[in-house]
Amino acid sequence: MAKKKFDIRIAIIAVLLAVLLAVVSTLAIVVAADLINNYGGGKTDVSSQTSSIPVDNTDTSSTESEDTPSIFVTPTGVELDTKFSRLLLINGSNPLPDDYDTNVRDYLVEIDENYRNNNYVTQIHKDIYPYITAMVAAAQADGVDLKVWSPFRSYSIQNDLFQRQVERVGGDEAKAATVVARPGTSEHNTGLCADFNMADDAFEQTAMFTWMCENAEDYGFILRYPEEKQSITGVIYESWHWRFVGIEVAKEMNSLGMTLEEYVEYKNLDPTMDMYTDDSASKDTEQIKD
Ligand SMILES: [Zn+2]
Repeated sequence: MAKKKFDIRIAIIAVLLAVLLAVVSTLAIVVAADLINNYGGGKTDVSSQTSSIPVDNTDTSSTESEDTPSIFVTPTGVELDTKFSRLLLINGSNPLPDDYDTNVRDYLVEIDENYRNNNYVTQIHKDIYPYITAMVAAAQADGVDLKVWSPFRSYSIQNDLFQRQVERVGGDEAKAATVVARPGTSEHNTGLCADFNMADDAFEQTAMFTWMCENAEDYGFILRYPEEKQSITGVIYESWHWRFVGIEVAKEMNSLGMTLEEYVEYKNLDPTMDMYTDDSASKDTEQIKD
């Protein structure tokens, strides 16, 4: 009889232990799920801008974005927003408006001397400043002497370069435009891109180019004019010209093997999106000023 009572006690204790174990493991799962959901959530974004990718996009790849951590902490300790993007498409068929050259001035910032090797053109769009400087700093930390050579260029500077190229090719403007874009059709007029180190074919043979091919997408930059895509971009292969599109977007574009032209079409985006980062430089504001 006593043994039976003892058995019942053991059975009750066993049941209680099992219940306790179930509660503890459920709690552990809840805490783990919460941690995963809040990954990076407590950190401060480098930019207050949110992603420009439409949230109602029904494309299958949109599910991938939910899995990407929203913050990338660079090797030099800079926190970058992986969802931030700048997808303004500028090319021969999608020129900038005439007044863009004036309006964009409100958005330009001076690049610190540590990150550039040119004193002629020294400004870049403020939106991409944290990304480009973090990238150059990371390359330099890796012992690679990456430097910004040519970032933003005004229409006036672009026109000088274009006219020089026209002379070089004997007056053929169309031919010149495949090498130097006409004013208003160059990405350099936006401040969202940069040529690195030398803006020359020799760049392809450098450690800087190798580093960029391996790392640029982590900072939101893509090789804008790949060798095999001239028929799509309208521009010759330029190993030195890199465009900021956004970290998540750059990785997606590279995995899809798409140029910006192809990506904008694939996602059915408005090529003029991200023309201005807020309303302060819109045409309406200009009219009020006048
Ligand atoms: Zn360029």
